[in-house]
Amino acid sequence: MKTKREFIHNLKELPRDELLAPGSPLCAGCGGLLALRLLLKALDGNVAVVNAAGCMTLLAVYPYTPLRTSWLYTTMGSAPAGAQGIRDALDVLIAKGRLPREEDLRVVVLAGDGATLDIGLSSLSGAIHRGLDFYYLCYDNEAFGNTGFQMSAASPYGSRTATSPATPLQAAGTLQQKKDLFEIWRSHHPPYAATLSTADPVDLVDKVRRATRLRGPKLFTALAVCPPGWGSAPSRGFEIAKLALDTGVWPLKEAIDGKVRHTYIPQRRRPLEEYLRTQRRFAHLFSPQRQEDVLHRMQQAVDAYWDEVQRHEMPPR
Ligand code: SF4
Repeated sequence: MKTKREFIHNLKELPRDELLAPGSPLCAGCGGLLALRLLLKALDGNVAVVNAAGCMTLLAVYPYTPLRTSWLYTTMGSAPAGAQGIRDALDVLIAKGRLPREEDLRVVVLAGDGATLDIGLSSLSGAIHRGLDFYYLCYDNEAFGNTGFQMSAASPYGSRTATSPATPLQAAGTLQQKKDLFEIWRSHHPPYAATLSTADPVDLVDKVRRATRLRGPKLFTALAVCPPGWGSAPSRGFEIAKLALDTGVWPLKEAIDGKVRHTYIPQRRRPLEEYLRTQRRFAHLFSPQRQEDVLHRMQQAVDAYWDEVQRHEMPPR
């Protein structure tokens, strides 16, 4: 069940303008790049991107870049601080009459899950707490992708990464649970936070457009299918992203002033196994021996989440 869309209603209504040209050196089938492309479409130009070090570092390999926006590159831990600097500079220029208000820029931080949940969490927390007027896109590929797919705080229980391999002593691979970024954000009381999926571009654009009406931190996290890290074919990106929605492992939701609303509720959820089987990072759960207890625990976590949603949407904080 999908909620009614407010701004666009089908793919034909997606904005035509592209702020991200073809021809980046990122991996084929990168879900993070597609999420960025759609977010920039929704923002309609006048954007400054603040890029935390990570996979998207490759968006500007001097002197080339596919971005048709301004771009500031920062360390992994300091992108929100960089965004504060740009926002302050723009505000000062506008206040002094040196920049017409109509030429103001929307400041967009672009960061992976490693920069968001690990290295840059304190900088991000501070920026949200200060009420910085900015957009934040976390492309969540559930590991440190550009350095060889090491475990991050977003790596899901049961997945295999370069630093949490499946071994006889640790058959599940990653033992830790993924941090809940949406709830971490919600606990900071931002005006807007949402999860996004490249399998539902209409929902993605609708949410970004809705957020433009609000002042303050506007926070988005997109599941980013990562073919080399996940061990999946680049051509299967849409199918995998869609399975994440239909199995319920990646819920689509938004929180406006803390009040949560799911924008897609799968009526008949597909078994999580269908999603897991599309990726080599979960292959150890099926072969050489099926790990029933790990699979059961993973399915149970998804079921428990949706049982809770069915009972009641989470109350506002
Ligand atoms: S490693 Fe993954 S997230 Fe990074 S550029 Fe390649 S596909 Fe994208």
